[in-house]
Amino acid sequence: MGVYQRAPLAFERGEGARLFTADGEAYLDCLAGIAVNALGHAHPKLVQALKDQAEKLWHVSNIFTIPGQEALARKLTDLTFADVVFFTNSGTEAVECAIKTARKHHWAKGAPERIDIIGFEGSFHGRTIAAVNASGNESYLEGFGPRLPGYLVAPFDDIDALKALMGPTTAAIIIEPVQGEGGARSLSESSLRALRRLCDETGALLIYDEIQCGLSRTGRLFAHEWAEGAAPDIMCVAKALGGGFPVGACLATAEAASGMTPGSHGSTYGGNPMAMAVGLAAVEELAKPELLANVRELAGYFVQQLSGLQQRYPDVVVDIRGKGLLIGIKLATNNRDFMQLARDQKLLIAGGGDNCVRLLPPLTLTLDEAREAVEKLEAACRAARDRAKAAA
Ligand code: PLP
Repeated sequence: MGVYQRAPLAFERGEGARLFTADGEAYLDCLAGIAVNALGHAHPKLVQALKDQAEKLWHVSNIFTIPGQEALARKLTDLTFADVVFFTNSGTEAVECAIKTARKHHWAKGAPERIDIIGFEGSFHGRTIAAVNASGNESYLEGFGPRLPGYLVAPFDDIDALKALMGPTTAAIIIEPVQGEGGARSLSESSLRALRRLCDETGALLIYDEIQCGLSRTGRLFAHEWAEGAAPDIMCVAKALGGGFPVGACLATAEAASGMTPGSHGSTYGGNPMAMAVGLAAVEELAKPELLANVRELAGYFVQQLSGLQQRYPDVVVDIRGKGLLIGIKLATNNRDFMQLARDQKLLIAGGGDNCVRLLPPLTLTLDEAREAVEKLEAACRAARDRAKAAA
């Protein structure tokens, strides 16, 4: 189907932060499959984990015990607030599971009227019908019918407006601690804590969508960990979890998931042995202190360098935002044109809402590669400025 606006560019192989075309042309990859290849391309540990599992067992069905699932679930629950995990094949399925878990929680507690899911303006939670209804961007819903009953959208970071929307039918709030597709907008630590308090006071469940911002991208294993005392009841994870192998997860406290009993949910492929083998290897790598330290160091470098670009090219760069290595550059010139100008420099970056481009490099990027990315961005800024001048 014609649903993608694809760039006329194909790659044959990847290594670390580099992608190579069939002609051997090298590109510096600062979008990493939109925050998926967090460990770069062809990471030896992930390749080995997949090869080893491929020779043993691909699939058996959730009718049976799957030891790899238990191992990855134990790893994730040891590292987080969660007690239980449901594995999916994608991010949007993790969101589906989160929404069902929240509604079923209230139903099991004798409050079946509590079905409302409150999302936020500019948010993105995936493409299933439930996820586009929970997302705060009308364009994802266009043509797919009116917003369904039970889904509300609150303004971004406005606690009073949120309170006004909440009531006896509220089941849960769903929020990205750092908005990805919406343009790398980060929620403050105090705002996250205020959401936690509001949920505690009202009995609503707090769902974090950390599909893009989670798994070390912000310099903490999960973005909400920057705000002490703001742990969620339910959290969606995907993307970096498989480093390129399709896998997602919905994590929850035992209390939040108390309604999820045998028969309430399921998936043929979710938690498949291949995905679990790669997922376990990926989480082990992503949780390493030296990787988190690298993210923080590079984030500081990028903020400093990109602020310099903003000063030198005020007609092109309007704002620098985001957290860690989820960086948004808001532009005065067209963001899609800018992505092409970056590609002309052999640099790959992502687009984003609010006329942003995003840098989402592998978390294994080196300082030398970060320097190279900044040089290429400067060349793209120069080209964007010259083009804007010529058009004026
Ligand atoms: N939630 C967030 C925050 C995302 O960034 C994405 C994908 O970009 C999704 C959900 C959907 O994930 P998937 O495309 O794996 O279904």
